[in-house]
Amino acid sequence: MTDIERIAALAQIDEKLDEMHEELGDLPKEVKRQEIIVRDKTSVVEETQAQLGEIDQFRANAAVTFQEFSDKEAKLSDTQFTGQVRNNKEFDAITKEIEFIRSERNRIEHELAQNRIKEENLQSILAIQQGELNDAKEILNTKEKELEELSNEQNDDFKQLHSRRKEITSSLNSDWYTEYERIRTYHNDAAVHVRKGSCSGCFSAIPPQKQVEMRNNIHGLYTCQNCGRYLYPEDLYIPEEF
Ligand SMILES: [Zn+2]
Repeated sequence: MTDIERIAALAQIDEKLDEMHEELGDLPKEVKRQEIIVRDKTSVVEETQAQLGEIDQFRANAAVTFQEFSDKEAKLSDTQFTGQVRNNKEFDAITKEIEFIRSERNRIEHELAQNRIKEENLQSILAIQQGELNDAKEILNTKEKELEELSNEQNDDFKQLHSRRKEITSSLNSDWYTEYERIRTYHNDAAVHVRKGSCSGCFSAIPPQKQVEMRNNIHGLYTCQNCGRYLYPEDLYIPEEF
C-alpha cells in the first residue's frame, strides 16, 4: 500500500466515522427533546383530569348535601305541622330556614348544571390531549428504538473502523498524517479524488502537468493549490470494505 492509498483509505474511514457521529449526534438530542414533549403533554392531560376530578368531587359532595337538606327539611316541616311550634315567631323562623335550604339547593343545582357543560367540554379537550400524548409517546418510542438499534449496529462498525484506522495511521508517514489532520480542521474531506481533471473538493482545475506527475509518481504527495486538500488520482482503487 502506498502512502497516498493510505491517505485515501483514511479519508474514506473518516467519512464513515463522521457519518456515524452525525447519525448518533442528532438522535440522542431528538430523544431528549421528545421526552420533554411527552412530559409536558402528560402534565397537560393530568391537569384536565384533575379538573374533571374536582367536578366529580363536587357532585359527590352535592349528593350528600342534598340528602342532608331533605332530612332537615322533612324534620322542620314535621315540627311545623305537628303542633310542636310554640309561637308564630318560631314558626316564621322555621319557614325561613326551609326557604334557605331551598335556595341553597337551587344554587347547588345551578352549579351542577354548569358543571355538566364544563365536564362535556373538558371530556372532549381531554380526548384531544390524550390523542396528542399518545402520538408523542409513539414518536418517542420509535426514536428510542432507532437510537438503540443504531448504537448496537454502530458498536461493531466503530470498533472495526477504528482498528483499521489505527492500522493505517501507524504505517503512514507521520508528516503526511500530521498534514492530513491539519487539513481536516478545515475540510472534513481532507483527501479527495481528482475528477475529470478537477479537485472534487473545490472543483478547481488541476494543471495537466500535475495530473501526469501524479499518475507517474505513485509515491508522491499532491495537494490542491486552491483548497489545500490531498489529491489522489481518479483511478486509484480503494477497497470499499475492510
Ligand atoms: Zn481543491
